[in-house]
Amino acid sequence: MNYDRIIIRYGEISTKGRNRKLFIDKLRRSIKPLLRNTPRAKIDASRDRMYILLNGENGSGIIEGLKGIFGIQSFSPAVKVDKDIEKMKEAALTLFQEVYEEGKTFKITGKRSDKTFELTSEDINQEFGAHLLQNIDNLKVNVKNPDINLLIEIRSDAAYLSCETIKGAGGLPVGSSGKAMLMLSGGIDSPVAGFLAMKRGLEIEAVHFYSPPFTSERSKQKVIDLTEKLANVSGYVDLHIVPFTEIQQIIQKQIPENYSMTTTRRMMLRITDEIRKRREGLAIITGESLGQVASQTLESMYAINDVTNTPIIRPLITVDKHDTIEIAKEIDTYDISIRPYDDCCTVFVPSSPKTKPKRDKVLHYESFFDFEPFIEKAVNETEIVRIRIGNENHNMSVDDLF
Ligand code: ATP
Ligand code: MG
Repeated sequence: MNYDRIIIRYGEISTKGRNRKLFIDKLRRSIKPLLRNTPRAKIDASRDRMYILLNGENGSGIIEGLKGIFGIQSFSPAVKVDKDIEKMKEAALTLFQEVYEEGKTFKITGKRSDKTFELTSEDINQEFGAHLLQNIDNLKVNVKNPDINLLIEIRSDAAYLSCETIKGAGGLPVGSSGKAMLMLSGGIDSPVAGFLAMKRGLEIEAVHFYSPPFTSERSKQKVIDLTEKLANVSGYVDLHIVPFTEIQQIIQKQIPENYSMTTTRRMMLRITDEIRKRREGLAIITGESLGQVASQTLESMYAINDVTNTPIIRPLITVDKHDTIEIAKEIDTYDISIRPYDDCCTVFVPSSPKTKPKRDKVLHYESFFDFEPFIEKAVNETEIVRIRIGNENHNMSVDDLF
């Protein structure tokens, strides 16, 4: 289609009165990386909608990308025309002929936001409908369920014509709700949790615990690939890779086996919380789902959560595994998550972890050892990698990244 711009309609912004500016800024930031291969395309934002002005660039790649951006209700490739009825008719006919095929039905949807314009919305429907019927043989109107809906919007600055309205991903622009740390394993659940949190406007930084040499470089690569999928939504995601071997070995020595899993999770949470503080985040996100495994019983969560007051967001807490897998497939993380490499928890996992650990007991077991210096050391030795949108990282080996 011969469109010169893409009209973007904001999502839930109407309920966000005072936050409008933040919402628009963050949406602009999410969209910007989509324009990296089309340098002449520009973003033009106003209070109630946004335009991508193509300036001669091909918009098809941008349109694909926009479908995954949070904060967009819908968008339409469109042309801008002077509010001159003859010019508008000419443009409507040209635009329509580009998408029309024999046998397709149509309707016109006129929208007059500029009330000074000489035709009402209904007049626009009549006048432009008649114009198309006169110029195209055998064309048929179908008001209820047309194949082509030609939208003609009269706004204060100009008229905008479009034949297609594409549904957006909804949600809030990434970053408009603040920043949180996502505890990202190589599993199925945590990338989905991160995605859902981003959909509600959270900017995320990922934290991954690994235990070389017990976990392989490939399991690290898996997490990098998962992070890249999340980066496709927001442009980039910072990934914190925490060396966890030493602490796991201490736990193995110091803590009775049936409580080692509980302590492991508590240490992970303490470290994540420390990284969060340094990065000025306000929450922690996990992929936990109630009752799924030993560490996710309510008793376990109570004993683990005890190490911090920081809000812990668990988008999957009530979601069935089956439904999580469906989302993982949709967001294209599933195939990465099922690659069969061990993560640090599966390597050290005890044969029979306590499913109902007691907080007092775990505190007692941990009281014989000062974990604090080791936590600090792990945080200080954490590597941070910025994972960017697209396939920029694909041809790099893990060694290039670290
Ligand atoms: P997932 O599919 O996300 O791995 P899971 O069902 O395997 O989840 P657990 O292994 O109990 O469940 O992990 C619960 C949560 O703890 C994960 O969703 C993730 O947020 C966090 N987590 C587990 N292992 C790691 C790790 N190695 N690094 C960072 N976070 C982790
Ligand atoms: Mg897991």
